[in-house]
Amino acid sequence: MTTSNISVDISPVGGNGTGPAAAVPAPATRNTCPACGSHYREDEMVANLRVCAHCGHHFPVAARERVVQLADDGTWDEVARGLRSADPLGFVDSRPYPERLADAERRGGMQDAMIVGRAAIEGRPVVLAVMDFAFLGGSMGSVVGEKFVRAAHLAVVEERPLVAVSSSGGARMQEGVLALMQMAKTVAAVDELREAGRPFVSVMAHPTTGGVAASFAALGDVIVAEPGALLSFSGPRVVQQTTREELPEDFGLAESNLRFGHVDLIVPRAELRETVARLVALLSGGEPFRRHVEAAPEGAVRRAWGAVRRGFSRLHPPDADG
Ligand SMILES: [Zn+2]
Repeated sequence: MTTSNISVDISPVGGNGTGPAAAVPAPATRNTCPACGSHYREDEMVANLRVCAHCGHHFPVAARERVVQLADDGTWDEVARGLRSADPLGFVDSRPYPERLADAERRGGMQDAMIVGRAAIEGRPVVLAVMDFAFLGGSMGSVVGEKFVRAAHLAVVEERPLVAVSSSGGARMQEGVLALMQMAKTVAAVDELREAGRPFVSVMAHPTTGGVAASFAALGDVIVAEPGALLSFSGPRVVQQTTREELPEDFGLAESNLRFGHVDLIVPRAELRETVARLVALLSGGEPFRRHVEAAPEGAVRRAWGAVRRGFSRLHPPDADG
Protein backbone atom coordinates (compact mmCIF):
# COMPACT_ATOMS: atom_id res chain seq x y z
CA MET A 1 0.00 0.00 0.00
CA THR A 2 1.38 3.40 -0.93
CA THR A 3 0.74 6.82 0.55
CA SER A 4 -1.24 7.80 -2.54
CA ASN A 5 -4.05 5.52 -1.35
CA ILE A 6 -5.02 7.80 1.48
CA SER A 7 -5.16 11.49 2.07
CA VAL A 8 -3.24 11.76 5.32
CA ASP A 9 0.12 10.54 6.50
CA ILE A 10 -0.31 8.55 9.68
CA SER A 11 3.29 7.49 10.16
CA PRO A 12 4.70 8.29 13.61
CA VAL A 13 7.10 11.16 14.24
CA GLY A 14 10.60 10.02 13.35
CA GLY A 15 9.18 7.04 11.45
CA ASN A 16 10.95 5.77 8.38
CA GLY A 17 8.65 7.75 6.14
CA THR A 18 6.90 4.80 4.57
CA GLY A 19 3.44 6.18 5.34
CA PRO A 20 0.69 3.75 6.39
CA ALA A 21 3.13 0.84 6.22
CA ALA A 22 4.65 2.23 9.41
CA ALA A 23 1.29 2.01 11.16
CA VAL A 24 -0.04 -1.23 9.72
CA PRO A 25 2.17 -4.32 9.55
CA ALA A 26 3.10 -5.44 6.05
CA PRO A 27 1.22 -8.55 4.86
CA ALA A 28 4.34 -10.77 4.97
CA THR A 29 4.69 -10.25 8.73
CA ARG A 30 1.12 -9.43 9.58
CA ASN A 31 0.99 -11.81 12.55
CA THR A 32 4.21 -10.49 14.07
CA CYS A 33 3.68 -7.89 16.78
CA PRO A 34 5.29 -4.61 15.71
CA ALA A 35 5.65 -3.61 19.37
CA CYS A 36 7.34 -6.66 20.90
CA GLY A 37 8.13 -9.00 18.00
CA SER A 38 5.98 -11.92 19.24
CA HIS A 39 4.70 -14.08 16.44
CA TYR A 40 1.33 -15.83 16.31
CA ARG A 41 -0.39 -18.41 14.19
CA GLU A 42 -3.51 -17.20 12.40
CA ASP A 43 -5.85 -19.25 14.64
CA GLU A 44 -4.19 -17.72 17.74
CA MET A 45 -4.71 -14.25 16.29
CA VAL A 46 -8.41 -14.90 15.69
CA ALA A 47 -8.93 -16.46 19.12
CA ASN A 48 -7.17 -13.54 20.82
CA LEU A 49 -9.20 -10.93 18.85
CA ARG A 50 -5.93 -9.84 17.16
CA VAL A 51 -4.44 -8.50 20.37
CA CYS A 52 -0.86 -9.44 21.25
CA ALA A 53 -1.03 -11.80 24.24
CA HIS A 54 2.43 -10.69 25.31
CA CYS A 55 2.26 -6.88 25.23
CA GLY A 56 -1.38 -6.01 24.49
CA HIS A 57 -0.71 -4.41 21.10
CA HIS A 58 -3.95 -4.13 19.10
CA PHE A 59 -3.53 -5.33 15.50
CA PRO A 60 -5.91 -4.05 12.80
CA VAL A 61 -9.13 -6.03 12.36
CA ALA A 62 -10.87 -6.55 9.02
CA ALA A 63 -14.49 -5.34 8.99
CA ARG A 64 -16.10 -8.78 8.68
CA GLU A 65 -13.95 -10.17 11.48
CA ARG A 66 -14.94 -7.17 13.62
CA VAL A 67 -18.60 -8.01 13.04
CA VAL A 68 -17.91 -11.57 14.22
CA GLN A 69 -16.16 -10.17 17.32
CA LEU A 70 -19.03 -7.83 18.20
CA ALA A 71 -22.30 -9.31 16.97
CA ASP A 72 -24.21 -12.26 18.41
CA ASP A 73 -23.89 -15.41 16.29
CA GLY A 74 -26.22 -15.49 13.32
CA THR A 75 -27.67 -11.99 13.83
CA TRP A 76 -25.68 -10.11 11.16
CA ASP A 77 -27.89 -9.01 8.28
CA GLU A 78 -25.94 -6.85 5.85
CA VAL A 79 -27.72 -4.07 3.95
CA ALA A 80 -26.64 -1.81 1.05
CA ARG A 81 -24.19 -4.50 0.02
CA GLY A 82 -24.34 -3.80 -3.70
CA LEU A 83 -23.14 -0.18 -3.57
CA ARG A 84 -20.02 0.43 -5.63
CA SER A 85 -17.98 3.51 -6.37
CA ALA A 86 -18.25 5.12 -9.76
CA ASP A 87 -15.31 7.07 -11.17
CA PRO A 88 -16.96 10.41 -11.92
CA LEU A 89 -13.66 12.28 -12.17
CA GLY A 90 -11.91 9.70 -14.38
CA PHE A 91 -9.18 9.84 -11.75
CA VAL A 92 -5.72 8.49 -12.50
CA ASP A 93 -2.70 8.81 -10.20
CA SER A 94 -0.07 6.12 -10.69
CA ARG A 95 -3.01 3.86 -11.64
CA PRO A 96 -6.63 4.46 -12.68
CA TYR A 97 -9.06 4.59 -9.75
CA PRO A 98 -11.30 1.73 -11.03
CA GLU A 99 -8.21 -0.48 -11.16
CA ARG A 100 -7.38 0.33 -7.53
CA LEU A 101 -10.97 -0.45 -6.51
CA ALA A 102 -10.96 -3.79 -8.32
CA ASP A 103 -7.60 -4.67 -6.81
CA ALA A 104 -8.74 -3.81 -3.27
CA GLU A 105 -11.89 -5.89 -3.76
CA ARG A 106 -9.91 -8.84 -5.07
CA ARG A 107 -7.50 -8.78 -2.13
CA GLY A 108 -9.90 -8.23 0.76
CA GLY A 109 -13.28 -9.34 -0.56
CA MET A 110 -14.84 -6.00 0.43
CA GLN A 111 -16.74 -3.90 -2.12
CA ASP A 112 -15.73 -0.70 -0.34
CA ALA A 113 -14.28 0.44 2.99
CA MET A 114 -17.47 0.02 5.07
CA ILE A 115 -20.10 -2.63 5.69
CA VAL A 116 -23.42 -1.85 7.37
CA GLY A 117 -26.25 -4.00 8.61
CA ARG A 118 -28.55 -5.11 11.39
CA ALA A 119 -27.10 -7.12 14.25
CA ALA A 120 -27.63 -7.89 17.90
CA ILE A 121 -24.99 -7.33 20.58
CA GLU A 122 -25.62 -9.42 23.68
CA GLY A 123 -29.27 -9.63 22.71
CA ARG A 124 -29.74 -5.92 21.95
CA PRO A 125 -30.72 -5.06 18.39
CA VAL A 126 -28.43 -2.46 16.81
CA VAL A 127 -27.36 -1.20 13.42
CA LEU A 128 -23.64 -1.77 12.90
CA ALA A 129 -21.39 0.21 10.53
CA VAL A 130 -17.83 -1.08 10.37
CA MET A 131 -14.90 0.29 8.40
CA ASP A 132 -12.02 -1.65 6.92
CA PHE A 133 -8.61 0.04 6.74
CA ALA A 134 -7.33 -2.55 4.29
CA PHE A 135 -9.66 -1.21 1.58
CA LEU A 136 -7.83 1.84 0.17
CA GLY A 137 -6.76 2.98 3.63
CA GLY A 138 -10.33 2.95 4.93
CA SER A 139 -10.88 6.11 2.93
CA MET A 140 -14.34 7.69 2.81
CA GLY A 141 -15.76 8.24 -0.65
CA SER A 142 -19.35 8.32 -1.91
CA VAL A 143 -20.02 4.67 -1.03
CA VAL A 144 -18.82 4.91 2.57
CA GLY A 145 -20.82 8.12 3.02
CA GLU A 146 -23.94 6.60 1.50
CA LYS A 147 -23.63 3.41 3.54
CA PHE A 148 -23.26 5.36 6.76
CA VAL A 149 -26.34 7.44 5.89
CA ARG A 150 -28.36 4.30 5.13
CA ALA A 151 -27.23 2.78 8.43
CA ALA A 152 -28.41 5.91 10.25
CA HIS A 153 -31.77 5.86 8.40
CA LEU A 154 -32.23 2.22 9.31
CA ALA A 155 -31.46 3.02 12.95
CA VAL A 156 -34.11 5.76 12.90
CA VAL A 157 -36.78 3.73 11.09
CA GLU A 158 -36.30 0.56 13.14
CA GLU A 159 -35.62 2.42 16.39
CA ARG A 160 -32.24 0.81 16.92
CA PRO A 161 -29.06 2.38 18.29
CA LEU A 162 -26.25 2.89 15.77
CA VAL A 163 -22.80 1.52 16.55
CA ALA A 164 -19.99 2.55 14.19
CA VAL A 165 -16.43 1.22 14.25
CA SER A 166 -14.11 3.55 12.35
CA SER A 167 -10.66 2.97 10.94
CA SER A 168 -9.75 5.41 8.23
CA GLY A 169 -7.03 7.47 6.61
CA GLY A 170 -9.60 10.16 5.75
CA ALA A 171 -11.31 11.32 2.59
CA ARG A 172 -10.78 9.33 -0.62
CA MET A 173 -8.71 11.64 -2.75
CA GLN A 174 -9.64 9.81 -5.96
CA GLU A 175 -13.20 11.16 -5.55
CA GLY A 176 -12.10 14.75 -4.93
CA VAL A 177 -14.80 17.09 -3.68
CA LEU A 178 -17.39 14.28 -3.80
CA ALA A 179 -15.42 12.58 -1.01
CA LEU A 180 -15.25 15.80 1.01
CA MET A 181 -19.03 16.18 0.69
CA GLN A 182 -19.46 12.92 2.58
CA MET A 183 -18.35 14.73 5.72
CA ALA A 184 -21.38 17.03 5.60
CA LYS A 185 -23.63 14.19 4.50
CA THR A 186 -22.67 11.89 7.39
CA VAL A 187 -22.88 14.74 9.90
CA ALA A 188 -26.43 15.44 8.69
CA ALA A 189 -27.23 11.75 9.22
CA VAL A 190 -25.98 11.92 12.81
CA ASP A 191 -28.22 14.94 13.27
CA GLU A 192 -31.16 12.88 12.09
CA LEU A 193 -30.34 10.21 14.68
CA ARG A 194 -30.20 12.92 17.29
CA GLU A 195 -33.59 14.36 16.27
CA ALA A 196 -35.08 10.88 16.52
CA GLY A 197 -33.47 10.30 19.92
CA ARG A 198 -31.56 7.25 18.77
CA PRO A 199 -28.22 6.63 20.49
CA PHE A 200 -24.99 6.60 18.51
CA VAL A 201 -21.92 4.85 19.91
CA SER A 202 -18.73 5.63 17.97
CA VAL A 203 -15.80 3.27 18.35
CA MET A 204 -12.49 4.58 17.00
CA ALA A 205 -9.95 1.95 16.05
CA HIS A 206 -6.42 2.57 14.80
CA PRO A 207 -6.17 4.78 12.85
CA THR A 208 -9.14 7.16 12.72
CA THR A 209 -7.92 10.27 10.97
CA GLY A 210 -8.74 12.95 8.40
CA GLY A 211 -12.30 13.39 7.17
CA VAL A 212 -13.70 10.50 9.20
CA ALA A 213 -12.17 11.78 12.46
CA ALA A 214 -13.52 15.20 11.50
CA SER A 215 -17.07 14.04 10.78
CA PHE A 216 -19.30 11.23 12.05
CA ALA A 217 -16.67 9.36 14.09
CA ALA A 218 -16.26 12.36 16.42
CA LEU A 219 -20.02 12.79 16.92
CA GLY A 220 -20.93 9.73 18.94
CA ASP A 221 -23.03 10.22 22.04
CA VAL A 222 -20.29 8.14 23.58
CA ILE A 223 -16.89 7.89 21.89
CA VAL A 224 -14.91 4.77 22.64
CA ALA A 225 -11.30 4.26 21.54
CA GLU A 226 -9.09 1.21 21.34
CA PRO A 227 -5.80 1.42 23.27
CA GLY A 228 -2.90 2.95 21.35
CA ALA A 229 -5.07 3.99 18.38
CA LEU A 230 -4.00 7.06 16.44
CA LEU A 231 -6.97 9.43 16.44
CA SER A 232 -6.16 12.76 14.94
CA PHE A 233 -7.01 14.89 11.93
CA SER A 234 -3.44 14.89 10.61
CA GLY A 235 -0.69 12.44 11.46
CA PRO A 236 2.05 13.48 13.92
CA ARG A 237 4.73 13.77 11.23
CA VAL A 238 2.67 16.23 9.18
CA VAL A 239 1.81 18.27 12.28
CA GLN A 240 5.45 18.41 13.34
CA GLN A 241 6.62 19.43 9.88
CA THR A 242 3.96 22.15 9.72
CA THR A 243 4.31 23.60 13.22
CA ARG A 244 8.05 22.87 13.66
CA GLU A 245 7.34 22.17 17.30
CA GLU A 246 8.38 19.24 19.44
CA LEU A 247 5.32 17.00 19.88
CA PRO A 248 4.63 14.91 22.95
CA GLU A 249 5.42 11.21 22.63
CA ASP A 250 1.75 10.21 22.65
CA PHE A 251 0.55 12.92 20.26
CA GLY A 252 -2.77 11.98 18.69
CA LEU A 253 -3.00 8.62 20.42
CA ALA A 254 -6.18 7.46 22.14
CA GLU A 255 -4.55 8.10 25.53
CA SER A 256 -3.87 11.79 24.84
CA ASN A 257 -7.31 12.19 23.26
CA LEU A 258 -8.80 10.88 26.49
CA ARG A 259 -6.77 13.37 28.51
CA PHE A 260 -8.07 16.25 26.38
CA GLY A 261 -11.66 15.01 26.50
CA HIS A 262 -11.94 14.07 22.83
CA VAL A 263 -12.85 10.50 23.67
CA ASP A 264 -14.89 9.23 26.60
CA LEU A 265 -13.25 5.92 27.32
CA ILE A 266 -10.49 3.60 26.16
CA VAL A 267 -11.58 -0.01 26.06
CA PRO A 268 -9.33 -3.02 25.39
CA ARG A 269 -10.74 -5.14 22.56
CA ALA A 270 -11.49 -8.05 24.89
CA GLU A 271 -14.00 -5.84 26.73
CA LEU A 272 -15.36 -3.97 23.72
CA ARG A 273 -18.38 -6.16 23.03
CA GLU A 274 -19.55 -6.08 26.64
CA THR A 275 -18.93 -2.32 26.94
CA VAL A 276 -20.81 -1.48 23.74
CA ALA A 277 -23.70 -3.70 24.86
CA ARG A 278 -23.82 -1.90 28.20
CA LEU A 279 -23.72 1.55 26.59
CA VAL A 280 -26.47 0.63 24.17
CA ALA A 281 -28.61 -0.66 27.04
CA LEU A 282 -28.02 2.46 29.14
CA LEU A 283 -28.72 4.86 26.28
CA SER A 284 -31.77 3.17 24.85
CA GLY A 285 -33.73 2.39 28.00
CA GLY A 286 -37.15 4.02 28.18
CA GLU A 287 -37.97 7.19 26.28
CA PRO A 288 -35.66 8.64 23.62
CA PHE A 289 -32.92 9.93 25.86
CA ARG A 290 -32.33 13.30 24.23
CA ARG A 291 -34.79 16.10 24.76
CA HIS A 292 -35.52 18.22 21.75
CA VAL A 293 -33.37 21.35 21.91
CA GLU A 294 -35.48 24.52 21.75
CA ALA A 295 -34.62 27.03 19.04
CA ALA A 296 -32.77 30.16 20.23
CA PRO A 297 -35.14 32.92 21.36
CA GLU A 298 -36.19 35.53 18.81
CA GLY A 299 -33.35 37.97 18.08
CA ALA A 300 -30.76 36.15 20.20
CA VAL A 301 -28.67 35.00 17.25
CA ARG A 302 -28.80 38.49 15.65
CA ARG A 303 -27.72 40.14 18.95
CA ALA A 304 -24.88 37.64 19.49
CA TRP A 305 -23.63 38.10 15.93
CA GLY A 306 -23.80 41.91 16.36
CA ALA A 307 -21.63 41.63 19.47
CA VAL A 308 -19.06 39.54 17.58
CA ARG A 309 -18.92 42.08 14.75
CA ARG A 310 -18.56 45.02 17.17
CA GLY A 311 -15.73 43.19 18.96
CA PHE A 312 -14.04 42.45 15.64
CA SER A 313 -14.22 46.07 14.43
CA ARG A 314 -12.66 47.24 17.72
CA LEU A 315 -9.73 44.90 17.05
CA HIS A 316 -9.50 45.77 13.36
CA PRO A 317 -10.88 49.31 12.76
CA PRO A 318 -12.05 49.46 9.11
CA ASP A 319 -9.65 52.29 8.15
CA ALA A 320 -6.58 50.84 9.91
CA ASP A 321 -5.69 48.37 7.16
CA GLY A 322 -7.12 50.29 4.23
ZN1 LIG B 1 3.35 -7.55 21.35
